[in-house]
Amino acid sequence: MSKCDGVLAMGRTVKNGKKWCNGCKRYRRVKQFTPRMKRGRLVLRARCQECEQEAGRAYNKTQAHKDAKRRYYGNHPEQFRKEYVSRLAKEFDMTGEELERWLAMHSRKGCEICGVLASVQRGRWKKRLHLDHDEIAKRLCGALCNPCNLGLGHFLHNPQLLRKAAEYVERTRP
Ligand SMILES: [Zn+2]
Ligand SMILES: [Zn+2]
Repeated sequence: MSKCDGVLAMGRTVKNGKKWCNGCKRYRRVKQFTPRMKRGRLVLRARCQECEQEAGRAYNKTQAHKDAKRRYYGNHPEQFRKEYVSRLAKEFDMTGEELERWLAMHSRKGCEICGVLASVQRGRWKKRLHLDHDEIAKRLCGALCNPCNLGLGHFLHNPQLLRKAAEYVERTRP
């Protein structure tokens, strides 16, 4: 492993501050690679930002791929659950067990604000609560129902505004 700008990358793929991109098959400056958390430390992605974006766009476009995936996961709910948990655990730098405990605790507890156990979306009951997370710190905050989550978003997650909103409601609708 060699160190570049505080981010660890596999030594064999980094040369003179440049890293090999698995997408466009050339060396590019390490700045052009997005770091991600892997088992508690930052590592650079295998493809440069441009290649990551392009791959993402191309992938999202194929409806056939989406349909096939939906069919597959519909027939394999345990597999869906397994991949969902491991994807989330990776994203928030937790072990699978830590995440399972977190999910079990929050599904018992329900929405952190109103306590509802499931949320309504587009007129249908949605089984899962929204996992509220801190984008920057990559940390799970709590589980919220859809209306509470949207509410917080409308108030920009600003505690001062939220307090003022509560005071306003108390004052005008006692
Ligand atoms: Zn590339
Ligand atoms: Zn709620």
